[in-house]
Amino acid sequence: MQEEQRTFIAVKPDGVKRGLVGEIIKRFENRGFKLIALKMIDVTPEMAEKHYAEHKGKPFYERLIRYIQSGPIVAMVWKGYDVIAGTRQIMGATGPLDAQVGTIRADFALVKEYNIVHGSDCVESAEREINIYFDEKEIFDEYENMAEIVIEDLG
Ligand code: UDP
Ligand code: MG
Repeated sequence: MQEEQRTFIAVKPDGVKRGLVGEIIKRFENRGFKLIALKMIDVTPEMAEKHYAEHKGKPFYERLIRYIQSGPIVAMVWKGYDVIAGTRQIMGATGPLDAQVGTIRADFALVKEYNIVHGSDCVESAEREINIYFDEKEIFDEYENMAEIVIEDLG
């Protein structure tokens, strides 16, 4: 693919409570992805419902809405080539037993529900989710990160 994209990533309340914010940021930084927005927030009921609208009606939906509001999250926007698939690769599959060893969820998730981290799954959901949590003025894309210095524009 090699497509420049933005994605919405959140350290979920269990990840914040377990002290994994730095660990998660480090893994995305190590890969060369560019952090362009970050804030700690309490998710409101409206944000939670918008974020997880695709799961409404599923058996785990009500618990998911409670879980994402069970403490502050660290909301972020990351940018880079294929950052959507790349961050999901680093996160691993939804449940810890399905995730490959070495991914965040295999290494840290307690169970499928309490799985530490969220990442958008396609360009459309990334832009939709970024808009739920951030104003464009909160996004800082002007500085040059190492990947941008190293890689000549892939066009
Ligand atoms: N989830 C759950 N039970 C399930 C599937 C999902 O509790 O059987 C929760 C889990 O926290 C997951 C979130 O709902 O991260 C959203 O589910 P999705 O299928 O979108 O997984 P993700 O994209 O986060 O891997
Ligand atoms: Mg998802």
